[in-house]
Amino acid sequence: QIVTRFAPSPTGFLHIGGARTALFNWLFAKHGGGKMLLRIEDTDRARSTQEAVDALLDGLSWLGLDWDGEPVSQFSRVGRHQEVVEEMISRGQAYRCYSSQEELEAMREKARAEGKPPRYDGTWRDRDPSEAPAGVDPVIRLKAPQDGETVVEDMVQGRVVIPNKDLDDLVLMRSDGTPTYMLAVVVDDHDMGITHIIRGVDHLTNAARQSLIFKAMGWDVPNMAHIPLIHGPDGAKLSKRHGATGAETYRAMGYLPQAMRNYLARLGWSHGDEEIMSLDDMIKWFGMDAVGQSAARFDFKKLENLNGHYMRATDDAELMIHWKTYLQHAEDGDAVLAWLAEKSNEQTALTALPGLKERAKTLVELTESASYLWRQRPLDCDEKAQKILDSDAKAILSDVHGILSGVEAWNAEPLEEAVKAYALEKDLKLGKVAQPLRAALTGRGTSPGIYDVLVALGRTESLARIQDQAN
Ligand code: GLU
Repeated sequence: QIVTRFAPSPTGFLHIGGARTALFNWLFAKHGGGKMLLRIEDTDRARSTQEAVDALLDGLSWLGLDWDGEPVSQFSRVGRHQEVVEEMISRGQAYRCYSSQEELEAMREKARAEGKPPRYDGTWRDRDPSEAPAGVDPVIRLKAPQDGETVVEDMVQGRVVIPNKDLDDLVLMRSDGTPTYMLAVVVDDHDMGITHIIRGVDHLTNAARQSLIFKAMGWDVPNMAHIPLIHGPDGAKLSKRHGATGAETYRAMGYLPQAMRNYLARLGWSHGDEEIMSLDDMIKWFGMDAVGQSAARFDFKKLENLNGHYMRATDDAELMIHWKTYLQHAEDGDAVLAWLAEKSNEQTALTALPGLKERAKTLVELTESASYLWRQRPLDCDEKAQKILDSDAKAILSDVHGILSGVEAWNAEPLEEAVKAYALEKDLKLGKVAQPLRAALTGRGTSPGIYDVLVALGRTESLARIQDQAN
């Protein structure tokens, strides 16, 4: 059975690159009918606050990327890591190293002078522990092979060969008894039964070192897939200066999780020319063979267009749920949430939603264009609306008020008929009537279709708003 894992270090948010790594792990597991586990790499105690962990879980949940079982805390497994190191020493696969900081610095100096990468020279590999200096707490190092080569058969990067002379005896345990990242990852991946390690290509050199630890313990090396990093539109590694890098920031920017998922899936993976893929399709089609080696570029415009598509394609009841989630995280969301909490208002919003979602690319835009629903009379108008209202619109609005008052069934069709008949009778272009009507009803120069607006506001409120501007 396929078992993947997502192994983030808590940093206070779910990085968008991490979200994409999680998605690939998730899709790969689902595709193969397997499991995705979650391991929190929380050994850096200063950074691993509960809030930082919660932020990760929250980001994953928002994206709908669920994990199997309980999240595993790497820190809680320290005892197990120590046990494995002891076993490696007793098998002759690891040794205590008493080199001082000064000695290590001298080794680095020497390597630098010879133009070689800095490496530990193996002083304590074969020395008898009885030679250990008193009062020095040793580190524990892997007794790595010195000849030959280490091969990583990577599902994305292909066959990666690293001469063992370039891999020195890495530290497994620090002098204070804490395991290193390199050791912890291997022990945890083994114990969790991970069959496939899928992560960023920045971990590729670690992969060779980790292979050595797996082999030293006589454990199977999991399959590996090192996926390309995400770059900004300018081709540089994605960073803050490109804009948002946290998944939850995209939620606050009004993106839908299904759009994010679809967008992130296409960052580095493709299935023919398919741009829009349902979750089921992605699961069905996902595979490492179609993951490329070159870095994917984050294209904000593309994400926005994709989001617009999902806004239109999502049914109203579901969109309402996402809208509320967005509002919980948006700066001025509380007031709108309070308004929506009234059942009749929610009903009004649902009536307006089909018209609203047609033109909004994000939930931010949707909220703005829905704002006519909850703004109070007399409406404050934007510049464009004010201009329309100031240019001989009062008489027309007076007429329209009269005409609409006479409409019996307050539905889009009869309302449209009445307005059109009036324009025809007065020999006015439809816009001459519709624009002042829109301005009076919404206080905006642009809005969803005015008949939708009339229906959403209802008879009483619509007529009152028209009256406000008519006299
Ligand atoms: N914790 C590491 C990171 O956040 C990932 C380790 C791994 O996937 O092996 O970059």
